[in-house]
Amino acid sequence: MAKNGGVPMNTKQYEGAPVIALIGRSGAGKDTQMRVLLERFDAVNISTGDLTRALITTGSPLGLFAKGILATGEWNFPSALDARSFFEALGARPSPIGRFAAKLLGENRIEFSVASDAKSYLLPDWMALLLFLEGFEKIPPSRWVICSSSPRRLNEAHFMDEMVQSIGRPPLLPVYIHVDEDVAIERLLNRRWCKPCGIYALPSSVVVPRECERCGGALSIREGDNDMENIMGRLHYFKERVIPLLEYFDGLGRLIWIDGDQGPDAVSKSMIDQIHARVVAMRFS
Ligand SMILES: [Zn+2]
Repeated sequence: MAKNGGVPMNTKQYEGAPVIALIGRSGAGKDTQMRVLLERFDAVNISTGDLTRALITTGSPLGLFAKGILATGEWNFPSALDARSFFEALGARPSPIGRFAAKLLGENRIEFSVASDAKSYLLPDWMALLLFLEGFEKIPPSRWVICSSSPRRLNEAHFMDEMVQSIGRPPLLPVYIHVDEDVAIERLLNRRWCKPCGIYALPSSVVVPRECERCGGALSIREGDNDMENIMGRLHYFKERVIPLLEYFDGLGRLIWIDGDQGPDAVSKSMIDQIHARVVAMRFS
């Protein structure tokens, strides 16, 4: 039987599995839906937050730098370290990701800033990209990937999209779960967190959940969720930084838009249906 299942031979095939960027405001239900996607597509999650925590536990000079930024917001990059050398080490590897890193270096497309005037508590862009690429390098090409914390900036979106295509995967598939700001605020104020399970319990209409539906354990308010200034800060960041990249992907006709203001099961279903339709279209267009 033909490998393409009878589809004409000029079909465009990708060697690698799809890479989904799951995007949404805090409170849109991303964590819940990510779990659904991981299970449904036997996918690997790649999160710069997790990668940063793993880097910090190594205690390496780069890990200490990251730890300092997260703790104090200050960039204390040791003058003895050369930011570029970390990328050069990656670029020297004979892997597809190594070749991509070498290409970025060769074209001088990475800004190696090691100091910042403003406190940001965010890693420099080059470092977030380095962690992301190194994390990606470990994932077999046949595994689906869900990126749950990136891209968060337009230039990061460009790099990611270019990278996944350079290693033989289909163009990045951005899936946006939309909730209005007032819905997001309401949910953040009323959701509760089960620390052992690592999951949120979401309010149903106005009822604040009392116990974890998985383990029955006690729930708590996650740090930041009871702080209106923190919530508004997250929502503001989303509007300033993330909306432009949604508009960029929408302009390319690639954005999968999901109404997040419905029950979690309905969100999952419409998400999976649309991803399926898009992946079939990508394979056979
Ligand atoms: Zn629990």
